[in-house]
Amino acid sequence: MEKLYESMYQLIVETSTKLPKDVRRAILKAKQRENAGTRAAMSLATITENIKMADENVSPICQDTGLPTFKIKVPVGINQIQIKETIKKAIAQATKDGKLRPNSVDSLTGENSGDNLGEGLPVVKFEQWEKDYIDVRLILKGGGCENKNIQYSLPCELEGLGRAGRDLDGIRKCILHAVYQAQGQGCSAGFIGVGIGGDRSSGYDLAKEQLFREVDDVNPNEELRLLEEYIMENANKLGIGTMGFGGETTLLGCKVGAMHRIPASFFVSVAYNCWAFRRLGVHIDPNTGEIIKWLYQDGEDVDFQENAAQEEHLASTDSERRVITLQAPITEEQIRQLKVGDVVRINGIIYTGRDAIHKYLMDHDAPVDLNGQIIYHCGPVMLKDENGNWEVKAAGPTTSIREEPYQGDIMKKFGIRAVMGKGGMGQKTLQALKEHGGVYLNAIGGAAQYYADCIEAVEGVDLLEFGIPEAMWHLRVKDFTAVVTMDSHGNSLHEDIEKSSLEKLSQFKEPVFS
Ligand code: SF4
Repeated sequence: MEKLYESMYQLIVETSTKLPKDVRRAILKAKQRENAGTRAAMSLATITENIKMADENVSPICQDTGLPTFKIKVPVGINQIQIKETIKKAIAQATKDGKLRPNSVDSLTGENSGDNLGEGLPVVKFEQWEKDYIDVRLILKGGGCENKNIQYSLPCELEGLGRAGRDLDGIRKCILHAVYQAQGQGCSAGFIGVGIGGDRSSGYDLAKEQLFREVDDVNPNEELRLLEEYIMENANKLGIGTMGFGGETTLLGCKVGAMHRIPASFFVSVAYNCWAFRRLGVHIDPNTGEIIKWLYQDGEDVDFQENAAQEEHLASTDSERRVITLQAPITEEQIRQLKVGDVVRINGIIYTGRDAIHKYLMDHDAPVDLNGQIIYHCGPVMLKDENGNWEVKAAGPTTSIREEPYQGDIMKKFGIRAVMGKGGMGQKTLQALKEHGGVYLNAIGGAAQYYADCIEAVEGVDLLEFGIPEAMWHLRVKDFTAVVTMDSHGNSLHEDIEKSSLEKLSQFKEPVFS
C-alpha cells in the first residue's frame, strides 16, 4: 500500500479545510431562513464567507482542529498496525504544514506534544468487514462542541420539561434538553448524534457514530425517523439561533441510533457538533493504498460565492445594530457607551489569552501593559514563514466560559476594558464588567479564516513556553468584527436568550410519543 500515506494526508487536509457537500447544503438552508439585518444573518454571512476562504486558502476552517478520530473498516487479512503508523505520520506532517493545530496535551504535565500525537491520540478504531476495500472515515470535532455533549440516565427530572421516563417520550425530552443546554456555546447552529441504550461509554460511541451519517439520509427505523423529524422541527422553535444570538435555526441535523441495554440502566447520550462539521471519508484500494472514492460528496454542491449579492444586501439593511469602531487603549467612558447588540469593529492591537494565560495572570505580572486593552480568547494556528516570521493561519475565538473563575479579577487587576471570545460568560464576569467598566465581545465561533484575514501583523509573543495555542500573541488587527453581548450596565444577551429559550422549552412538556 505505497500510496496510503498520500491518501491519509489528503483525507486529513480535506477534512480540516473543506466542509462536505451535505453540511454546506444544511448551512445554506439555514442562511436562507434568517431575516435580513439580524445578528443571526450577519453571523451566517460571516460563516459562509469563512467557508469560502478556507476553500481558497486550503487552510483550517476553524483554528480548533479538534481531536482526530478515524473509523476504519478493513477486509480480513489487512495489516492494521501498518495503517495506524501511516496515519500517525500523516497527522504529524499535516500539523507541521499548518493544516492541523497542535492539539495533543499531556493530561498530567500540560505539555503539548507539538505534533498531535500522544497517548491514545489520534483515536483510530478498526472493524473487519466482508467487502474488498478499506473504508476510512475521519471526524475533527473541536473542544467547544465536545464540551456540550451530555448524557442522561433515565428516569430523570429535566429543567423546563419535568420528568423524563424510560420511554420514547422521555428520550424526546432529553434530546430537546440537550439542544437547550448547549445554547450557543458549541458554536450553534449544530448537528446532534444521539445514542439510546448501551452503557456510558458505548452509548457515547453510538451517539458519535450517528455523526457519520449523511445529513439528509432517512432513518430506516420508523419510530426513530419520526423522532428525528420531530426534533428538527421543534428544536428550531427554541430561538437560540446561530452563536446563541437568537434566530430561526438552532439545529442543522439530528440523527438517532438505538442499541440494547441492561435492565438497570437507560442512557440517552448526545454528541453535539458545531456548524464546522468536519467529517469526511474515503474508500481505499487495499493493494495500492490509493483513494478510489470520496464520501459525503454526492448531490448538489453549494457555491457560497453566488450568495455574495445577498450578503451585501444584508449589510445595507443593518436595522438591528449600531456599528462602532474601537481602537485600543480604550477608556472607561468609551466602554460605558457600548450596549448589548452593538457591533464593534476593532483596529489596533489585541492580545490573545486563554486557559494557561488566565491562570498565570492571577499571580504574576503581565508581560505587557494591559491597561485599556482587549484580551482575545483564542488559540491560533501559527506557522513561521521562510524568513522566520510568525504567520497566522487560523484565529477564531475559543469558548470563554472556561475563564469565568479568573476573568473579572484579571480585568480589574490589569485595567483590561474588553474581553472577546465566544459563547458568553457568567454572573461573576457580568458583575465585574459593571463595577469596573468593561464589555464582553462575542466573535463568530469557527470563523477562523475570516478573522485571520483581519490580522495585519504579529507584533510579538509572550509565554510561548505554554505552547502555540496558549501563548500570548500580540496581533495588529483591522476591522475585526464582534458583537457586544455583555455590557457595563448589567445586560447579557446570553442570559436573555437562555431565559426565553427555557420558556419555549417548557411548551414541550406534554407527552408527544406514548
Ligand atoms: S466552530 Fe466552535 S465549537 Fe467548532 S471547533 Fe471551532 S471553536 Fe470549537
